[in-house]
Amino acid sequence: MNTNSYLQLGTVEALVVRKPVKNLHLSVLPPNGWVRVTAPESMKDDAIRTLLALRLPWIKKQQVKFACQERQTQRDYLTGESHYFFGKQYRLKLVYKDEVPAVFLKGKNKIVLQVRPGSSVAKRQQVMVDWYRKALHKVVADLMVKWQKKIGVEAKCWGIKQMKTRWGTCNHKQARILINLELAKKPIACIEYVIVHELIHIVEKNHNDNFTALLTGHMPKWKSLKEELNRFILSHEEWKH
Ligand SMILES: [Zn+2]
Repeated sequence: MNTNSYLQLGTVEALVVRKPVKNLHLSVLPPNGWVRVTAPESMKDDAIRTLLALRLPWIKKQQVKFACQERQTQRDYLTGESHYFFGKQYRLKLVYKDEVPAVFLKGKNKIVLQVRPGSSVAKRQQVMVDWYRKALHKVVADLMVKWQKKIGVEAKCWGIKQMKTRWGTCNHKQARILINLELAKKPIACIEYVIVHELIHIVEKNHNDNFTALLTGHMPKWKSLKEELNRFILSHEEWKH
């Protein structure tokens, strides 16, 4: 999503998305309090910066709120915790066994995390993250094959990366795509939307009418998938400029 840029204001980093809108729209996103600004295409960076500065107290307040929520839902990778996997909620079952660590699904709603006795929270997290990465890699690989063929484009390379504010990125010139590791928690249809979106960027750099037409042509329901991906936006306000 490469028409985006970043503005730094003290300790606050804001993702700025230019769109044909009339007003500036500010969101503080859970779970980490990332700041996103949707701004009119003609608005200068300085003007955005000034408006952001005025809203800093509000932004900080939202970030503190999310930080508190984050602590409450902090994962220790213990039995009984709830974890998402491809859009579905599972209960974690922690099993200690003196064997190579493993993660697997059991029954309808269990994720079994098997680690060696005495494994730390960090180790348990690492085992889970590796599992998520492997599972997502497999899904993305299949979808890449399917959609490169359908759209008629070729990504030079792609990878999976933990990212802060974007579900995916595409380097238009080099045809390189990155997919956010967090997508392993989202429904496969949403992952598919991100892949189609980024693949179209190989032929169309900007989010213009051509881009939207291509996207709609290949994936008529992309809007509802995008909404589903971003529906956890809890905190936002609209302001005039
Ligand atoms: Zn994009």
